[in-house]
Amino acid sequence: SETLAYSMYSKWIQSWRDLPLKINFWNTALRAEIKATKPFLRTSEFLWQEGHTVHATQQEAEGEVAEILEIYKKTVQEELAIPVITGKKSDKEKFVGAVYTTTMESIMPDGKALQMGTSHFLGQNFSKPFEVKYLDKNNTETFAWQTSWGVSWRLIGAMIMVHGDDKGLVLPPRVAPIQIVVVPIYYNEQDSARVNDAADKVEKILKEKGLRVHVDRRDQLTPGFKYNEWEMRGVPLRIEVGPKDVDKNKVMYATRHIKQKKDLAMESISSEIDEILQKIQDEMFEAAKKLLADKTTKTSEYSEFREAIEKGTFVDAGWCGKRECEEKIKEDTMADIRVIPFDSGNSGKCVYCKNPSVTNAIFGRAY
Ligand SMILES: [Zn+2]
Repeated sequence: SETLAYSMYSKWIQSWRDLPLKINFWNTALRAEIKATKPFLRTSEFLWQEGHTVHATQQEAEGEVAEILEIYKKTVQEELAIPVITGKKSDKEKFVGAVYTTTMESIMPDGKALQMGTSHFLGQNFSKPFEVKYLDKNNTETFAWQTSWGVSWRLIGAMIMVHGDDKGLVLPPRVAPIQIVVVPIYYNEQDSARVNDAADKVEKILKEKGLRVHVDRRDQLTPGFKYNEWEMRGVPLRIEVGPKDVDKNKVMYATRHIKQKKDLAMESISSEIDEILQKIQDEMFEAAKKLLADKTTKTSEYSEFREAIEKGTFVDAGWCGKRECEEKIKEDTMADIRVIPFDSGNSGKCVYCKNPSVTNAIFGRAY
């Protein structure tokens, strides 16, 4: 909350020695969302973090805005395995209090755009009304430069949608609470003892590597039931240990993101497991990148633009920079400018008015 933070900042900050001031809040926010709520995406109360920083110079504040967006991008891509497009919002779509808003955007399998996080350059828009000022090295009273930024549990919603399938969750290994589930398989007392011993051994190897592992020792349930349950819960890797595996001193493993089963020698578990998990993480990211590429249409024809939006894709198209075109497009197709990518090209003419374009922009329909 800007109001809460900046009224305190104006009291805390006196001199250049107090800067930069960077504070992150982990909290919940309440918004007047009553209709058409969606779990994680649009809820009246949501969990998020919001950062609010104060700097002596414009350059330093803008550096912070860029650095935070880069951290967000890295986190979402490397941990959640979701590719994002980073860039700026248009003036119409930026945070009203900001000089400009940078954003990361992605597209979901249903073709809707999702804003994954924003980082705002506030300039002196808040420091002036809230009197966030400091004495500089020459003892001159100066208004500070500010930023704010945030991501919410919406990212969890994105992860569920991008990777999940009809069987349930599919979690990337980096963030899965249980990375590996071990299922012992036996049908009589005699096998039970040696299979469970082998499962214990596997657990020990994996725990020693610092991995999050769970052995499903529930006696009353069949292996098939357990497979289904852990698949639904999205555990990325399952290791099966049966009597025949014990005989051969090996295990079987099955991945959640792609249906496949492979043998793994007991003595190779320790040396190969990291690579197996990393491969899952990489393949999930590649699949999500393909989704983003497949759901992005590049065109300079407005008829094609409309069709693509109707079909549920991003559209990469030229824009003249005028709000009027942005509004007409929105009225006509319910699509808005999601992001003007940092690396956007310029196809030469505005997809709507056909006048010269100042940049390309990514259009899409949002949740
Ligand atoms: Zn135009």
